[in-house]
Amino acid sequence: MQSFYCRIMEEFIMTPNIPTHAVAGLGEQTKAIHAGEYPDPSTRASSPNIVMSTTFVSDAETGFSVEGLSENDPFIYTRWGNPTIRQLEEKVAALEEAETAIAFASGMAAASTLLFHTLKAGDHAVVSDVAYAALAEITNEMVPGLHIGITKVDTSDLDALRAAIQANTRIIYIETPCNPLLRLTDIAAVADMAHRAGAKLAVDSTFATPAATRPLLSGADFVIHSMTKYLGGHGDALGGILLGSKADLTPLRKKTAIRMGGVISPFNAWLIMRGIATFPLRMRAHQENALQIARRLEQHPEVKRVIYPGLPSHPQYELAQRQMKNFSGILTFQVENGKEQARKFAERLQIIHYAVSLGHHRSLIFYLDSKDLQHTSFQLATPRQQESWNAFAGEGIFRLSVGLEDAADLIADLEQAMT
Ligand SMILES: *Cc1c(COP(=O)(O)O)cnc(C)c1O
Repeated sequence: MQSFYCRIMEEFIMTPNIPTHAVAGLGEQTKAIHAGEYPDPSTRASSPNIVMSTTFVSDAETGFSVEGLSENDPFIYTRWGNPTIRQLEEKVAALEEAETAIAFASGMAAASTLLFHTLKAGDHAVVSDVAYAALAEITNEMVPGLHIGITKVDTSDLDALRAAIQANTRIIYIETPCNPLLRLTDIAAVADMAHRAGAKLAVDSTFATPAATRPLLSGADFVIHSMTKYLGGHGDALGGILLGSKADLTPLRKKTAIRMGGVISPFNAWLIMRGIATFPLRMRAHQENALQIARRLEQHPEVKRVIYPGLPSHPQYELAQRQMKNFSGILTFQVENGKEQARKFAERLQIIHYAVSLGHHRSLIFYLDSKDLQHTSFQLATPRQQESWNAFAGEGIFRLSVGLEDAADLIADLEQAMT
């Protein structure tokens, strides 16, 4: 008699269907370990194999075009679907409680595929005025070049957001907490506003992660993650994922994702899947370390201001408590002379890496100069937008992605580099 998991794996391996029934109702850490993973029925290997094959042996009835592809078809070609990638999609879908998911080569591949699938010439989108830099840049230049209207707005300001919506608005795109300000947006309120206007809501939840928020349960239509960050968690694989309903994502996969081709390597999918096994545990440790360091920095004589959603001094602490179950591991702080301090950090830090990116087990710090960023990525148009930027960032901020090292060692490393 074949074991329970081997039967599921046999069912899974033959079709790209996601058998989410296997983990529904289980706890977060159990899902992180087991969702999408089944022993290999032929070898009985307990850990997942990596299927690197780009093509799959077909039968004579298999069609040649993606148009005829159905969800129940066997795997044909890895750009269309691959068992290892599908296992990762199932795992993240289980964590987000999403009906389905599509993995991509990077977070930007996920975000750009969503925008190019949803928006046609003559349409309009409302986008957070402060967001991941590459997202800010494509919506400043590339998307408007296709005769698609874009309005940038501070999405934490619900009145400004309401005023930005037009009759042809198809999508509202937010990040909460947003990169790099750690400013929050009320997901449920914006979902309601989007749906009243006949638009969809997309939430980049990379900073929050599913340990903090599940935007789909608050009414969002799409969730985007850069899996390069907390989900992968170890700084060794780029990846992105888009989650939502089958009604939205099945046509998106067929019409746009497969054709644009921003497919994740099965090797990266496997690395990220391995990283996710410890994801809920890591998020608790990230939060604990970040809170300790945020409190210490608040007391430091050189530090003018610390922004962390888990501190009562965060300007939106009430919303943070209502919306986030975990405050994640990213904080920002300001000092008097940021550029000079950046030089000191780059030269003197011994544990924390002076490097971009975030969400790794290793702590990372980087200086973000307000003048530079506003010149390149963010073109804040109104005095009110500028005011909100200043409330969070002033002249510039250090973004510290607090890793999983011992907090006392991280504090000592920061302090020796700040004297
Ligand atoms: C890193 C990041 C992205 C882009 O992800 P890549 O994997 O680098 O393409 C998008 N959004 C946020 C909030 C990010 O931090």
